[in-house]
Amino acid sequence: MNKIKILHMYSDMLDLYGDSGNMEIISYRCRKRGIECIIDKYSIDSPEPDFTSYDLIYIGGGADLEQQHISDDLLRCRDGIEKAYRNGTFLFLICGGYQLMGKYYRDADGNDIPGLGLFNYYTVAPSSRKKRCIGNIMIRTSFTGKKVDVIGFENHGGQTQGVKTPLGEVISGNGNTTGGSHEGYFEKNVIATYLHGPCLAKNPEISDYMISYCLSRSSGETIKLAPLDDKLENECRKVMKERLLSRH
Ligand code: GLN
Repeated sequence: MNKIKILHMYSDMLDLYGDSGNMEIISYRCRKRGIECIIDKYSIDSPEPDFTSYDLIYIGGGADLEQQHISDDLLRCRDGIEKAYRNGTFLFLICGGYQLMGKYYRDADGNDIPGLGLFNYYTVAPSSRKKRCIGNIMIRTSFTGKKVDVIGFENHGGQTQGVKTPLGEVISGNGNTTGGSHEGYFEKNVIATYLHGPCLAKNPEISDYMISYCLSRSSGETIKLAPLDDKLENECRKVMKERLLSRH
């Protein structure tokens, strides 16, 4: 089946630094290859969807206030999201969305926003709101089977602890913790990261990993995607990479 079905959750509340652009990139890269890409939206008070009917569930990042606003609703969706994840649906999670799939996010005032607890990590923000991890970041990953440097922009207070399988190693920037060595969380069907940008605009290989995962899962065969012309993306990546590496 040449089709993927995505559920974009809380696009009206969790959309920091153009995170919704990630959906535009996935749909663009599908369209270029003749793959149908359906993106449904879900937000507070929408009827509960059949989460298992989606190939990918996407949640972007947001400020503490938005995270509080969606919290009750997200908890109501817990069983559906967990069932989908266990069934192989891909979870793509940015920053605030990443934090809320762990045990909890403790904000700068010490209030706990409960997470879905799908994963064992937890996140605590420092009590000073001035202490944030802000700036361009580069991490080195190998989840696609080869070494890929992933570039983005981070802005989070939260310090995420207890990650056993990070997405990558920090080359420049902070990552899961201030001055830390690792960034994000990874499983075969989970990419959770602090990287905004939007992340996929700067990192075509991540989009393609997820598109290929979704198609392979529904067809039962390993699908290799036709390459696209990523000249412009690669030139932009080169500039940012050089800039970040020259700092070290
Ligand atoms: N509010 C969270 C934090 O500051 C998440 C921020 C984000 O999504 N960029 O850590």
